[in-house]
Amino acid sequence: MSRLEHASEVAGLAAELGLGGAANPVDAIPRHCRTRIDRWVADAGGVTTIGELEAVVTQRLQMVFVEVRSDADFDRITNDYARGKKEFVFAAMRGKFDDAENPTFGALVKRKHVGEDAPDRFVAVIDCRGGKLARRFFTRWHEIAHRLTTHADQGATEPAYRSEHDPLERLMDEIPRHVGFYGPFFDLAFDAAHGGKTLLTFGTVEAVRTGGFPEASFQATLNACAKRIPTPLVYLEATLAYKKEERRRNQTPSLFGDTPPPGELRPSK
Ligand SMILES: [Zn+2]
Repeated sequence: MSRLEHASEVAGLAAELGLGGAANPVDAIPRHCRTRIDRWVADAGGVTTIGELEAVVTQRLQMVFVEVRSDADFDRITNDYARGKKEFVFAAMRGKFDDAENPTFGALVKRKHVGEDAPDRFVAVIDCRGGKLARRFFTRWHEIAHRLTTHADQGATEPAYRSEHDPLERLMDEIPRHVGFYGPFFDLAFDAAHGGKTLLTFGTVEAVRTGGFPEASFQATLNACAKRIPTPLVYLEATLAYKKEERRRNQTPSLFGDTPPPGELRPSK
């Protein structure tokens, strides 16, 4: 991974948020978000579940979620927001979400035709169709991260459909690890699940997920645990696959009609 802290977009965002003097903006920006959230939680008299935390945070941010569970939901969104509320940016969204080259998981819109203090001044559309459902929790917190940073009150109004490799998108993915896996819950769930073991196990990750973050995916929880554990950790995703020459051989129809052997376990690309 290239060094995110050296990206000019990240330095620019830090300056916009008044964190221009920070030595490492990749630490400073999530910490800034976390400090704001801690203050809201204290004002609310504390929270006991991650769902309550999300509710406190989104209320403060005047933000609501609209989830897409099937293709027909785009018609409903167009009807409600573009026709009904004259927010036309919603009508053109589906193409971005369906773009196979650069799939979009969520988009945040600052509404134009609504009062300054409306509770739904910002609308985050979250794609939960098919394989994207597993990232639902993470995508919601990714959009909260945008609202805390790139969509701060003076910031952008329309969703920016950046590539997932864009430095700002990668930074937005860092923030949920700090704020979605909220420290006070995460530390409790992690300590209970980990029980002082030296190395991270799949069992610990699953116990953290079921114990504290049932809506999060295994992978997102694994990433959060990897950040928390002090021992070095290598993350390798593997799948059954063929070598290049095996793939070529299997594409040639066999004279004997035999089925190709199953692939071998290889690192995923
Ligand atoms: Zn984003």
